[in-house]
Amino acid sequence: SRIVWRFGTSSAAEEVISPSVQVSYTKLLIDGNFVDAASGKTFPTRDPRTGEVIAHVAEGDVEDINRAVKAARKAFDEGPWPKMTAYERSRVMLRFADLVEKHSEELAALESWDNGKTYEQALTAEIPMVARLFRYYAGWADKIHGLTVPADGNYHVQTLHEPIGVAGQIIPWNFPLLMFAWKVGPALACGNTIVLKTAEQTPLTAFYVGKLFLEAGLPPGVLNIVSGFGATAGASLASHMDVDKLAFTGSTDTGKVILGLAANSNLKPVTLELGGKSPFIVFEDADIDKAVELAHFALFFNQGQCCCAGSRTYVHEKVYDEFVEKAKARALKRVVGDPFKKGIEQGPQVDSKQFEKVMKYIRSGVESNATLECGGGQVGDRGYFIQPTVFSNVKDDMLIAQDEIFGPVQSILKFSDVDEVIKRANDTRYGLAAGVFTKSLDTANRVSRALKAGTVWVNCFDVFDAAIPFGGYKMSGNGREKGIYSLNNYLQVKAVVTPLNNPAWI
Ligand code: NAD
Repeated sequence: SRIVWRFGTSSAAEEVISPSVQVSYTKLLIDGNFVDAASGKTFPTRDPRTGEVIAHVAEGDVEDINRAVKAARKAFDEGPWPKMTAYERSRVMLRFADLVEKHSEELAALESWDNGKTYEQALTAEIPMVARLFRYYAGWADKIHGLTVPADGNYHVQTLHEPIGVAGQIIPWNFPLLMFAWKVGPALACGNTIVLKTAEQTPLTAFYVGKLFLEAGLPPGVLNIVSGFGATAGASLASHMDVDKLAFTGSTDTGKVILGLAANSNLKPVTLELGGKSPFIVFEDADIDKAVELAHFALFFNQGQCCCAGSRTYVHEKVYDEFVEKAKARALKRVVGDPFKKGIEQGPQVDSKQFEKVMKYIRSGVESNATLECGGGQVGDRGYFIQPTVFSNVKDDMLIAQDEIFGPVQSILKFSDVDEVIKRANDTRYGLAAGVFTKSLDTANRVSRALKAGTVWVNCFDVFDAAIPFGGYKMSGNGREKGIYSLNNYLQVKAVVTPLNNPAWI
């Protein structure tokens, strides 16, 4: 079905740039087959532009997680995946990356349709990064090895880096395929098998790439994909006794629940990538126009639905008024509309729940006497579009400066000196990311070392690469994803100690 819905008044100049796309895969991928949920139940996934149903998708539950874990267990214990050579595994991953590229237009259209992100963003940034991540981790597959350890006494000691087993992975809806890649890439490179649960808002693209993986030659049972809800399918995966490791991305509240489920079942190790309230600090010597543009990008990118969004914009008092004026002008220029059209910068929020949540925070900002510079309302009268919103005169104790809003709402705060801003920037339960804008190398070095955040971007923001680790301090999570660091999440280290009766060199 061709996507032709148009936002606002349609005109001949409005060009729809996506290809035709159909929903071909709506069933659970278990043991290499697309199957109905054991209960036969389905749930709707909706178009955030209109709220209309796109497709009905199998609703996985406890029994389906059991089936998927059983398949993953068998594929791990009996092979062939962990027993294949690392080179063969990397070949499968490389073939998969090629297929992602070949199907990038359909994938981008499906991602945009299910999530509301712009087709251009999905096509030019996210899908290429998915292919890049799998190539990066394919490159690691045959470079993972242990050490020879110089231990006291006459012993030969070596460490073996083994796959950990069946990995359970629970992903969110804001970057459905990218989060899939961050988790599946390293797990496969290390030789694990997987049961992945997609977010209930965005199940479509994972099934599509599941099919591409089979085409690439991934053996049945290595990657099982279950759509379903958190409290049922998600909780069952987190508490499963036969899952050896769990990786989760989502809210901090759910992260706590998941850690409890893992602790109360088999104590499986858990990596968590949770929320954030990242400071974006603009010093008086910064290039203000560039800082305004990047602060805008840092917050509004992906409809503000980024865990690392620069959602507390701290600006030095000497440049504060100029910055606020320019930030407002930039937000007013932001093009909101149908994400399938050319030149659109912002689509709808993912669903009615997120829409309502963001609107509630906007009301809270107004009620707490922050200055509403622009925006604050819905765009149009259907779907989940929100006006780009800017608040100035925001104080640290306001809810909009403390909670993760996860929407297109920029909060601008004023500061006077470097010690003060470091203290205020760190005065949060989160610690995912931060931005520092200054021409002074000393200020950049000092502040980036003082900030309690997993990533500090200096004079840039949202620079991602397969090789750059990402993760949080404090309640933003534990463990790191991407880069070499992610491999540790999916490896078991075994020390093998053997007596040396006649060491050759003695
Ligand atoms: P969520 O944490 O509830 O959902 C994320 C994933 O966890 C989904 O797959 C969901 O099905 C699953 N889940 C939910 N409850 C579970 C449970 N009890 N056991 C196991 N799995 C469970 O997030 P949400 O409700 O979709 O969004 C709420 C807020 O979370 C957002 O407003 C935002 O602040 C934050 N969020 C953060 C990120 C991030 O990238 N860090 C991503 C999405 C949402």
